[in-house]
Amino acid sequence: MKLTFLGATGTVTGSRYLLEDDGRKFLVDCGLFQGLKELRLRNWEAFSIPPSSVDAILLTHAHLDHSGFIPRLVKEGFRGPVYCSPATYDLCSILLPDSGYLQEEDAARANRHDYSKHKPALPLYTEQEARKSLEQFRPVDYAAPHRLNEFLEASFHRAGHILGASCIHFSDGATSILFSGDLGRQNDPVMKAPVQMQGADYVVVESTYGDRLHSKSDPAEDLEQIVNRTVKRGGSIIIPAFAVGRAQSIMYYLHRLRVEKRIPGHLPIYLDSPMAINAAELLHKYPNDHRLPERLCKEVCDAAEYVRTTEESRLLDDNAANMPCVIISASGMATGGRILHHLKRFLGDARNTILLAGYQAEGTRGDRLARGEKEIKIHGQMRPVRAEIVKLDNMSAHADYAEVLEWLGHFTVHPRKVFVTHGESSAAESLAEKIRAQFGWEATTAEYAQQVML
Ligand SMILES: [Zn+2]
Repeated sequence: MKLTFLGATGTVTGSRYLLEDDGRKFLVDCGLFQGLKELRLRNWEAFSIPPSSVDAILLTHAHLDHSGFIPRLVKEGFRGPVYCSPATYDLCSILLPDSGYLQEEDAARANRHDYSKHKPALPLYTEQEARKSLEQFRPVDYAAPHRLNEFLEASFHRAGHILGASCIHFSDGATSILFSGDLGRQNDPVMKAPVQMQGADYVVVESTYGDRLHSKSDPAEDLEQIVNRTVKRGGSIIIPAFAVGRAQSIMYYLHRLRVEKRIPGHLPIYLDSPMAINAAELLHKYPNDHRLPERLCKEVCDAAEYVRTTEESRLLDDNAANMPCVIISASGMATGGRILHHLKRFLGDARNTILLAGYQAEGTRGDRLARGEKEIKIHGQMRPVRAEIVKLDNMSAHADYAEVLEWLGHFTVHPRKVFVTHGESSAAESLAEKIRAQFGWEATTAEYAQQVML
C-alpha cells in the first residue's frame, strides 16, 4: 500500500488521503480547505491525480472539511462510488447542496460588488452539481466489512463526533491501516463515545486538540452565566454553530437550562439554519447513533423556534423588539451563511455576546473574533467589534489529547507507525510527542503531499 497526504497537514481542514493498493486508488475523505487564503487557494489547484483515476472515495463524516470537495471532484471527472455510513449520506444530502448554493451566492455577491480579483468570480461548484454528486454515494452499515478489490477490505466504525461519523479500517490481509476521522468525546451528552478499536499496523489520527485539554467546567453552567449576564444588559446572544452537531448540543443545553429555570423561560431561542433544522430531524431517524431518548430528543428539537426562510431570518435582524434573544445560526466558524448577516447587525453593540462554541480554524472570522480583533471584514466591508466575545471549548465535538490517548490506549495491535494529522502544526507535533512518550510507538506528523510506503 502507498499513502499520500493531500490535506489536513498542518491544518484542520482539507482532509484528503490517497491510499493506493494493487494499482487501485482510494481517497479517504475529500474535504474543502477553509480558513487562511493560502489554504483556500488549494481548492482551485489541479487535483494531484486525474479525478477520473480515483476508484472510490471512503468518507469518514459529513463535515465540509471532509466531504466538501466531492462535488468538485465529480465535476472534474470522478465517476466512482462514495462509501460512507447511512447517516453521513443523509447529512451530505443536506450539507453539500447548501455548500454549492453558498458558493454560488458568494460568487454572485463578489461580482455584484466587484470585490473579487477574479472576473467573473466563479463557484467551485453549484448547488445543482452538488445534488448530482450525491447519486454516486453508496451508504454502508457500521462494522460490516466492505470489499474494495481482490484483497482490500474496509469497514466503518462509530467515531462519536457527529451523526454518522466513522473511523475507517482497511486491511489487505498483509497490512492494515486505521483512519480515526474526527474523534468525538467520551462523555458528550448527545453523541455516543467513539467505538474502541483494536488498532492497525498504521494509524492516521486527528489532533485538533492535540495540545489542549477541554475545560472541566460544566458547559451548562458557562452557558447559564453568559445568557443571564447578556440578557441583564439588554443584549442578545449570537451563536455561530456548525449546523450539524454543535447546533443540536447547544439546543440540548439551552433546553436543560430552561427546564431547570436557570435562564428566563420567555427568552426566545431561534435556530436560524434550515440545515440545522433538517439535521435535528435526523436525530429521530438514527436513534442508535446518539444518547437522547425519544422524548428528550423531541423536546430538544422543539426547544428553538425554527427560522426557515431568508425573509424570516432578515426579520430577526430588523426587529429590535426581538431583543434580547438567542440566535443559533451557521456557519460555525463564521466563514459564510446567515450568521454573517446577524454578525453585521449585532457585532457593533456592546450589549450583545457572540458565543464561539466550536473549533475555529486559523484565519476564519471566528478565529479573528476569538483572538480579539477589533474589526472584521464581512461581505467586503470592515465592521467594528464591540460585542462581548466568548469562546467555549468544553462544548467541543472533538476529543482532547487525553481522550485521544485513551482511545489509542485500548489498541491490542501495536501500530508500526502513527501519523498525526488534522491539527495546526504545534497541536499535531505535541500529540505525536505524547504518543511516543506514553506508548513508545513511532509517531510523526505528516507533510503536505508526503508519500509513504506501508
Ligand atoms: Zn468534523
